[in-house]
Amino acid sequence: MADYIIETAKGKWEVVVGLEIHCQIISKSKIFSAASTEFGDDPNTNVSFVDAGMPGMLPTLNAECVHQAVKTGLGLNAKINKYSEFSRKNYFYADMPTDYQITQFRYPIVGEGVIVIDLSDGSTRHIGIERMHIEQDAGKSIHDLSPTKSFIDLNRAGVGLMEIVTKPDFRSPEEAGAFLRKLRSILRYLGTCDGNMDEGSMRCDANISVRPLGAEELRPRCEMKNVNSVKFVMQAIENEAKRQIDVYENGGKIEQETRQFDPTTGTSKVMRKKEFAHDYRYFPEPDLPPLVLTDEYIENIRREMVELPDAKKKRFMETMGLTAYDATVICENKETADFFEAAAAGHDAKKVANWMMGDFFAMLNKKRTDVLHSPVSAENLGRLVELISQDVISGKIAKDVFEIMSETGENPDKIVEEKGLKQVTDTGAIAAIVDAVIASNPDNVAAYKSGKTNLAGWFVGQTLKMSQGKANPALVNKLVKEKLDS
Ligand code: MN
Repeated sequence: MADYIIETAKGKWEVVVGLEIHCQIISKSKIFSAASTEFGDDPNTNVSFVDAGMPGMLPTLNAECVHQAVKTGLGLNAKINKYSEFSRKNYFYADMPTDYQITQFRYPIVGEGVIVIDLSDGSTRHIGIERMHIEQDAGKSIHDLSPTKSFIDLNRAGVGLMEIVTKPDFRSPEEAGAFLRKLRSILRYLGTCDGNMDEGSMRCDANISVRPLGAEELRPRCEMKNVNSVKFVMQAIENEAKRQIDVYENGGKIEQETRQFDPTTGTSKVMRKKEFAHDYRYFPEPDLPPLVLTDEYIENIRREMVELPDAKKKRFMETMGLTAYDATVICENKETADFFEAAAAGHDAKKVANWMMGDFFAMLNKKRTDVLHSPVSAENLGRLVELISQDVISGKIAKDVFEIMSETGENPDKIVEEKGLKQVTDTGAIAAIVDAVIASNPDNVAAYKSGKTNLAGWFVGQTLKMSQGKANPALVNKLVKEKLDS
C-alpha cells in the first residue's frame, strides 16, 4: 500500500488517526431495563421508569448484552476481562434524564485486540484495538418538528452500546474506511450489531492529528464527532488533516477540541473546546456490583463462535483457489459467502467466483437487489458453471443463458434444452460449416495460402457465427487449420 503523504510547498506531513466506534448491541431489551429496543416505534413508547430516570429506580444488567459483548470481544481477537465494573459519567443533557451515563471506565469488559484490514491492492494491515466497554445510549433530541420547540424521544435511552476504541494506528483515510467496513462485517457475522451507520446503530468518532513525516511525536488531536458513513469518515480525515497542516504552516497551534463534520460542504466546525475525563467526575456506579465472568462462561461463548471473515477468506484461498481480492469481496458479508459456497459445491469454485464477481454482482446491482433476493439461485449458478466445464455450452452462450436465468429464475439445463443452445461437438457437422465458409471465400483462402496465416482467425469467426455460437471453439480452430493447410 502506497503511503498517504500530504505534500505542501513547505514540507511533507503524515496523518495519525484513532477511531472510537459506538455500536448498538442487538438484544431484545435495553442494557439496564426490560424496555424494548425496537427501532422506529412511536416516540416514548419503549421507556421504562429506569430509562426515564425516575427517583429510586434501580438498573439491572441484561445478561444478553454481556453475552453479546464477550462474543464481540472474541471476534476482535481481544482479551476478555473477567473483572469489569460500571461507572457514572456525569453530564447534563436534555435527552438524558438521569444526568449521568452508566458506562465502564477504569475496568472495561474487553481489553486489547487486533483487526486485520484488507486494502484495495490486496495487502493487509493489523490495527490495534485499545479496549471495548459497554454502556447505555442516550435518548434523541428532535429539533426539526417545530420552529420554536425541541422534542425528546427516550426510546433509545438505555439501549446497550459497545464502544470500541482503536489505537492511533491509521495513517490514511483508506485505512480508516477499510477498518470500518471490516468491523461492520465482523459484527454482522457475529450478529451482535447490525452495523447500519445511516440508522445510527454504528457511529464513528475520529481522533485526528498530523505530524511532519518521519516525526515520532503525537501532536494534539481534534475529535470529529458522530460521522455517519464510511465515506464521510474518510472525507473528514482528509479535510481535517489539511486544515491542521494549514494552521501549523501559518505559525498557528492546534488545541484539543471536538468538531462537527458537515458532509455537504466537506468542512468541519468547532463544537466544544478541550474536554478531559476529569470533567465528567467519573465514580463507580453504586447501584451495580462489579461484573465478574468465569472461564467457563467465556469458553462456552468461544465454542459458539461462527467462522469469521478472515478465517473464511483464508479457507477460500487455500482450498478453493480464490485470489485474495476475490475472497475479500466474497467474504465481506456472510450471505454472499454462503451463496458462493452453495454455488461452488461440486463445481469449479474459481469459475463460480469469477461468475459472481462479474455477471452475477452486475446483475444484482442492476436489479438493485441483494444476494438473499437473487433471481438466480446458488444451485442454478453452479449448474451453469458446470455446463461450461462440461463443454455443453460455450462461455459466450452461457452469458445469454445467464441473462434468461436472471429474468425467469429458471434452471440453465432447461433453458439450454428448450432453446437448443447445446454446443455442437459433432466433428462432421462442424466440418460441413467450415467447408462452406472456405468454399464461399476463395480470395481469403488464396491470401492465407500466400502467407497471411493470421486469416485463420477470420475463418474461425465466420464458422462460429454460422453456427450461431454453438460450435465448440476448440474443434472449430482445429478443423479450420487442418482444412486450410491441406
Ligand atoms: Mn461512549
